[in-house]
Amino acid sequence: MSSIQPVRGTHDLIGEDRRRFAHVVETARRVVSLYGFDEWSTPVFEDTRVFSRSLGDTSDVVSKEMYTFEDRGGESLTLRPEGTAAICRALVTNGLTQSLPQKVFYAGPMFRYERPQKGRYRQFHQIGAELLGAAEPLADAEVIAMGRDVLRALGIEGETVLELNTLGDAASRDAWRSALIAYFSAHRADLSADSQSRLERNPLRILDSKDEKDRALVADAPMIAQYLTPDALAFWDGLRRTLDLMGVRFRENPRIVRGLDYYGHTAFEFVTSRLGAQGTVLAGGRYDGLVAEMGGPKTPAIGWAGGIERLSMLLESAPPEPRPVAVVPMGDEAQAASITVLQALRAADIRAETSYRGNMKRRMERANRMNATHAIVIGSDEIARGVAQVKNLDSGQQTEVRMEDIAAFLLAGTPERA
Ligand code: ATP
Ligand code: MG
Repeated sequence: MSSIQPVRGTHDLIGEDRRRFAHVVETARRVVSLYGFDEWSTPVFEDTRVFSRSLGDTSDVVSKEMYTFEDRGGESLTLRPEGTAAICRALVTNGLTQSLPQKVFYAGPMFRYERPQKGRYRQFHQIGAELLGAAEPLADAEVIAMGRDVLRALGIEGETVLELNTLGDAASRDAWRSALIAYFSAHRADLSADSQSRLERNPLRILDSKDEKDRALVADAPMIAQYLTPDALAFWDGLRRTLDLMGVRFRENPRIVRGLDYYGHTAFEFVTSRLGAQGTVLAGGRYDGLVAEMGGPKTPAIGWAGGIERLSMLLESAPPEPRPVAVVPMGDEAQAASITVLQALRAADIRAETSYRGNMKRRMERANRMNATHAIVIGSDEIARGVAQVKNLDSGQQTEVRMEDIAAFLLAGTPERA
């Protein structure tokens, strides 16, 4: 019978892959906690309107990447393609719009029907952070600095560059939008079919196009800088000043617009040259209109999301699992004593394993294969005297230790276990 394959664009996480993954999430959790962020967990599927209302119907995600289905009750549901809209929905439906600011971290799977390739999957995973209820540039700067600190704690800050842009306020964007429509209309015939249809509805989208033809035109398109209102410029100056103060280095890139429609003012991406076309590892911006789209009061907000697969690929290595201790009973009468020892070690937070069968020689081979630090060898003579032989498998040194003292002996000898 032929085996059933995993669905295209999905992947299993086993061994080293899983450890890299967990390291990214655990490191991010630790860093965001230093900034006062708490973790939220929202459902993997939502009412389709959570995403269709918020991401913009000309965005790639809504127009062609969503996993949308009707459930047995006839409701339209969507597997979440991103986390921000759902966090805003949760802020509103949990009645938290009056307890601001809220600083939220999340981690979990996201789903997009994309063409799978290195660094691009259909089920992928994100870590993300949202600061809801703060309108000041200091909030943007803290959120960006926190993203930088996550990369730093992962040891990959040096692999990335922070690219920063402003999208201005609504008035700035209206003026810019008109200029973009005029410019792209003059080159209409040279645009990709997708971008031709985006032209009137959302010309900013064209700036984020991955199509070669579009990219050539984008290079000479008008930039936001000349359309910024005094307010928008003051915000932009405030952000750059605060980042300087925090020692966060950035490169201004007027082409950063982000792939979703809800951004204003700040937009940023941490990019790397090591992952080919999939070079954005962590990205975000300010989205002051989104909570209102979810039926809440107008609430300023800023956040980012990082792709765990891409971050994992940049890691030098993952922290290894702790080395175990192997318990080796000699003969049937030692079986019961070895089980008692195993459970006592686990109760003392020591990773302890035993082989399920085999003679002494086999069991020692297995202890070496599992990279055990020690073998605890127990025979009938040891049982009679209430002791065990503790063999250090790195040095070969053997020590006789009283049964009840084994955990303390191991903890004292290997400070990293204590
Ligand atoms: P891209 O431009 O690469 O398509 P995006 O703008 O669609 O990215 P966001 O929606 O901002 O990405 O998601 C944040 C991060 O999540 C990205 O920077 C990336 O690291 C990761 N990401 C997005 N889509 C995928 C995917 N299909 N597979 C793996 N990681 C992804
Ligand atoms: Mg995308």
